[in-house]
Amino acid sequence: MNEHGLSEREVFSYLENAKSEDTDYYRVLSSMCTHPHKIAVEAHRLFIEANLGDLGLFAGAHRLEQEVVRMLGELLHAPSIDFPSRDSCKSSVCGYLTTGGTESNIQAVRGMKNLVTSGRKGLKKGLKGTPNIVIPESAHFSFDKVADMMGIEVRRASLDSEFRVNLASVEKLINANSIGLVGIAGNTEFGQIDPIDKLSEIALENELFLHVDAAFGGFVIPFLEKPQPFDFKVPGVTSIAIDPHKMGLSTIPSGALLFRSPSFLDSLKVNTPYLTTKSQFTLTGTRSGASAAATCAVMKYLGNEGYRKNVQYCMQLTSKMVEGARKIGFEPLIEPVMNVIALKVPNSDLVREQLLNRFGWNVSITRTPRTLRLVLMPHNRPEDIELFLQDLKKVTAEI
Ligand SMILES: *Cc1c(COP(=O)(O)O)cnc(C)c1O
Repeated sequence: MNEHGLSEREVFSYLENAKSEDTDYYRVLSSMCTHPHKIAVEAHRLFIEANLGDLGLFAGAHRLEQEVVRMLGELLHAPSIDFPSRDSCKSSVCGYLTTGGTESNIQAVRGMKNLVTSGRKGLKKGLKGTPNIVIPESAHFSFDKVADMMGIEVRRASLDSEFRVNLASVEKLINANSIGLVGIAGNTEFGQIDPIDKLSEIALENELFLHVDAAFGGFVIPFLEKPQPFDFKVPGVTSIAIDPHKMGLSTIPSGALLFRSPSFLDSLKVNTPYLTTKSQFTLTGTRSGASAAATCAVMKYLGNEGYRKNVQYCMQLTSKMVEGARKIGFEPLIEPVMNVIALKVPNSDLVREQLLNRFGWNVSITRTPRTLRLVLMPHNRPEDIELFLQDLKKVTAEI
């Protein structure tokens, strides 16, 4: 640090310089995040100092968080239960706002583990060794972190030809030490939705928890023309991760974790001796009240209708992209379920590099098989799809 502070002008010129190195979203086809809605930005500013790590001091921000949890519970068909005495469960659903899908997934698995090892709930059978969970091979890399930090074995089930989790593989991996399953509602690479209703049957049969990772899909699937079952309507689903900072158009960091039953939150509690509240069930301590306000504001402002339009827009872009790609000879790996396309393009790594270096397009690559991955977000525009396809045609013709 300098001994003496800089002037405001100097600081901002320094910041603007850095900002110019950031990528403008409009040629980004690789991100699941986007520009936050302007209502979210304003709400974020208004609550910039609110700390949800110390709820007693920020009753207003906390009320907004609970309202978000209530609205998300409604969106995801949480069963209507009333827990008037519980600070964390005043509405029909229990949960809290996280920093994103990663924290939600970590906490969901931590909850499973705590419930089982404390013997409070869950499996009737006793564990004989290291507890394990069974997840699809397509699961987000946040589960690598789960595996690394939780003392839990993470078993990976193979995928079927449509890149959904293979149910026979899941059943084969379940043993006496299994405590839970994970299904993905909108996987990060292919945008595919696992058969959550079938996973639910397997979970109920084997007395396992079932966590649904809908970090991306949570703000997409309910607004599709024919939504597939993925939420609390499916009886075996015990928790859901959903990210307002992706298709929810809120500010970063905004994630959410919802539980079917309050026992999960109880199992995550630690004592907080010097705060205004006695205990805390979150992973992080100090938490942003600003993103709770932002999420609350944008959900109230858009309503179901606004989100439906948002999803319709992204799905129209997706269809336009697929149609155009077919015209120049490239097929999608699967018929897109959501606004994610895995495009079968030969030499995809090289194509990706040239799209970026020559034309400034940011795309990504799926791991297996290697395809060009395109995410069509609210920041993309129809005219950019045409430009992208022209550039893709040029690049692939020359390789
Ligand atoms: C984005 C994503 C995550 C991780 O969310 P972060 O907000 O980046 O922590 C987890 N699961 C899925 C399916 C995702 O798409």
